Amino acid sequence: MIRYGLNYMEKSFAKIIRGYKAFREKYVLGEKSIMQHLSIYGQKPEIMVIACSDSRVDPALILQCDPGDLFIVRNVANIVPPYKKDQVNYATGAALEFGIRLLGIKHLILLGHSQCGGIDALFSQNNTENNDFITNWVSIVKASDAHVNSVDDYAKIALKQSYQNCMGFPWIAEKVMKKILLIHLWFFDIKTGQIFFFSHIHNEYRAFDSENF
Ligand SMILES: [Zn+2]
Repeated sequence: MIRYGLNYMEKSFAKIIRGYKAFREKYVLGEKSIMQHLSIYGQKPEIMVIACSDSRVDPALILQCDPGDLFIVRNVANIVPPYKKDQVNYATGAALEFGIRLLGIKHLILLGHSQCGGIDALFSQNNTENNDFITNWVSIVKASDAHVNSVDDYAKIALKQSYQNCMGFPWIAEKVMKKILLIHLWFFDIKTGQIFFFSHIHNEYRAFDSENF
């Protein structure tokens, strides 16, 4: 039996237990708690995020959201595989189907980031032999452009490919055409903590500032 006494826990584990207690006080306890409300009325998130598993890129934290706000998929390098019913990588497709078709998500955010380890595995083509799954997974977004200068450039190409893959899902493309679903390409810079959004009009990433909020 595991006993969770704080005095003999290592710091990182003790931190998450303290976090859990704070979560209970903020969101669970009390008659009109958010969790009670969500339990009674169900979840109705309007925003879905595809993010990387990277510990520095937590959408709920970066965007300061509450339970029920975001429907999130996290995988290595925030990849959306192409639409193929018989493919083996169906976890992300299943989450997209749940979010877009069942929950009626209105905004789908593809959240890439700088210094991505998954993209780096692809960019530097290291470790192709000594891992079981990573290389196979990230090679879904192999860039055909030979002039990729950096891991961050590659991550942005991967984002575009994920966007194109999203548009291969018929029920996503249909909603985008009807303008009841918007797909956003965002790039989070770990060093500055800034989010850059892809402007289709300007064909470049731009920082959020007071003008475009
Ligand atoms: Zn990453």
